[in-house]
Amino acid sequence: MAERGETESRKLLGRLRDAMAGDDAGQARLDKITHLIASSMGCEVCSIYLFRDDETLELCATEGLNKAAVHQTRMRLGEGLVGRVAKRRQVINTPDAPNARGFRFMPETGEEIFSSFLGVPVQRLGEALGVLVVQSKQAREFTADEVYALEVVAMVLAEMTELGAFVGEGAAMSARHSQPVMLRATVGQEGAAEGHVWLHEPRVVVSNPINDDPERELERLKTAVEELRVGVDKMLEIAGAGDKDQQEVLEAYRMFANSKGWMRRMEEDINRGLSAEAAVEKEQSLARARIGQSTDNYLRERLSDLDDLSNRLLRILTGQGSDTGAELPSDPILVARNIGPAELLEYGRSLRGIVIEEGSVGSHAAIVARALAIPLLVRAERITTEALNGDHIMVDAEQGIVHLRPEDTVVTAFRDKIAMLAAAQERYASIRDKPAETLCGARVGLQMNAGLMADLPSLHGSGAEGVGLFRTELQFLVRNQMPRRSELVQLYARVLDAANGQRVVFRTLDIGSDKVLPYMKPNDEPNPALGWRAIRVGLDKPGIMRMQLQALIRAAAGRPLTVMFPFVAQFEEYTEAKFILDKTLAAEKRLGHVLPSTIEVGAMLETPSLAFAPRKFFEQVDFLSIGGNDLKQFFFAADRENERVRRRYDTLNVSFLTFLEGIIQRCAETKTTLSFCGEDAGRPIEALCLAAIGLRNLSMRPASIGPVKNLLRRSNLEEVRGLISAARESGQMSVRPAVMEWLRRQS
Ligand code: PEP
Ligand code: MG
Repeated sequence: MAERGETESRKLLGRLRDAMAGDDAGQARLDKITHLIASSMGCEVCSIYLFRDDETLELCATEGLNKAAVHQTRMRLGEGLVGRVAKRRQVINTPDAPNARGFRFMPETGEEIFSSFLGVPVQRLGEALGVLVVQSKQAREFTADEVYALEVVAMVLAEMTELGAFVGEGAAMSARHSQPVMLRATVGQEGAAEGHVWLHEPRVVVSNPINDDPERELERLKTAVEELRVGVDKMLEIAGAGDKDQQEVLEAYRMFANSKGWMRRMEEDINRGLSAEAAVEKEQSLARARIGQSTDNYLRERLSDLDDLSNRLLRILTGQGSDTGAELPSDPILVARNIGPAELLEYGRSLRGIVIEEGSVGSHAAIVARALAIPLLVRAERITTEALNGDHIMVDAEQGIVHLRPEDTVVTAFRDKIAMLAAAQERYASIRDKPAETLCGARVGLQMNAGLMADLPSLHGSGAEGVGLFRTELQFLVRNQMPRRSELVQLYARVLDAANGQRVVFRTLDIGSDKVLPYMKPNDEPNPALGWRAIRVGLDKPGIMRMQLQALIRAAAGRPLTVMFPFVAQFEEYTEAKFILDKTLAAEKRLGHVLPSTIEVGAMLETPSLAFAPRKFFEQVDFLSIGGNDLKQFFFAADRENERVRRRYDTLNVSFLTFLEGIIQRCAETKTTLSFCGEDAGRPIEALCLAAIGLRNLSMRPASIGPVKNLLRRSNLEEVRGLISAARESGQMSVRPAVMEWLRRQS
């Protein structure tokens, strides 16, 4: 039976290919295809619905329904049986369609007389393109074999759609990848850039989804899978015994590469007439659709493994390695589903902009992009399916918009914007060596945040007065293994050399939460942000902390050293950390190393609890730095990584400002130096308010120093203080509207 089904499928695909080979225009081809499918499956009706836009499906061709309904009948995603197939990306097979859940009567098509309904999604690599439907008068459920056959045809349709086979006169649909597209995304690093798309993982183009010779295709698949297996085994060997996590992933790969079910399904697809590539893609599409629906993290990860493996297999089959022969454009804008910090660093400053489909603002890739001052957008849904290598692209990382293949009017407006931004940059450059002194005479120290060697040239270029936060964990995060002490010594020494006598605040390792070292076993914690992180790891595993402190002491080699402990929640944690530092200093001295000429030790205030620490704590620390990113998330109980709640609470919320004022007050009483080093310090309006409530040191991304200084120099803090008091008295939630209005009046 299966074999008969296979032969039938193959015959149908053969006819489809012949239909495609003719000179017909897009619509005629679609019409022919519906005719072929209906007759081959013994059904009265075959219809093809394709997406007009994200939410709307349109009847694009039919055999058996009223032809006048073509391009007239539309339905929304989720509406009617067809809409449900598209929405759930699942087959619907029913002998009694009019009584099936979700059925919608469409009089214009004459549909009510057809009882049986079989609809399968047309999708390519998880991207829904439409729905393929067959219907018949006779009430019957379609057999598993028929369902399979229709899925195979849907796969071929998807590939043909991708290849633009249905475009043309009386167009069934517009050419994919040729229309302008505008996507919304989240800003990871502000800026604007124009350039050409460079896909981190180029799409594999399957030029022939149908095979003539199943034996040959089966052989090709077998050889490719063999090559894949050997490759995975080699990777396992290289990963070695030391790297448990990487090994686990590779073991999962190996499991899939040897999976009989996976192989069997692909073989069956080939026997039904698909080419080896199309068979791999069909499986990959199913896996991607399941990723989209699964809420189980483990399953999602495994399905992602399968996705990655399928990509590798496709590259082997098509000979399109990650090196497709395409040349990096001179103005590349990187487009990726996701990218790791190390890979991003490899591209370095050659990139004009970065657009990531997944990712988050707090991810490490985002931190690297910020360090490199490259405009970055994350969560640009569909970008990897919409963009092709070499497409013209404009990244508006001020508004959070991507323009792909933009129209001329958009191009002109966008270029004006870039010119305005460039003019602003010139203005900032002109005040680079001037102090951030307000109209009322307050002097605010502006330092920069850093973490990579790539940041250091900005120390001079941005006009920063030293490094207020050096995130040492970035060096640990971008590697595949724990860096050795000697490497760290060299690195920290280079940082101090580059700073040329300016103060650098080295924050000890802040790992945990979202910063999981690739070579350390991740802790399965229900709430990692509240979990085993930063100083908690440092105190529980003092070996790593000691090693890092030694490296810092040796790198200073007689120069001043500033050390800051992250995420201190109570006085004792600081005391314990300081004790480890003192012991390390003593041991270093015994070993004959030159000690730093001076040593300042401070803590980050990132949990509300520390604001209420005993006075003694404030007296003992040399300085405190408010880590506003974490402090704000704990103050409002709103996850900084969760896009849904992150924006809900404004930094300029009067309660939060009042809380910060309390910290400033306590530091003033004990004469403790205080700074603020969260992302908000780099946002001009926020920085202005922070200065107004009394902060005199702000540490931020280098690119923010110009805009912040520019605003501070034009402002009178007394007036801003007045606005804050007024907002507080009148019960306003946030001072932002008042400050914005005040700024508008100023300009
Ligand atoms: C902060 O929490 O504000 C901070 C500067 O530290 P990080 O963003 O590295 O957690
Ligand atoms: Mg923090």
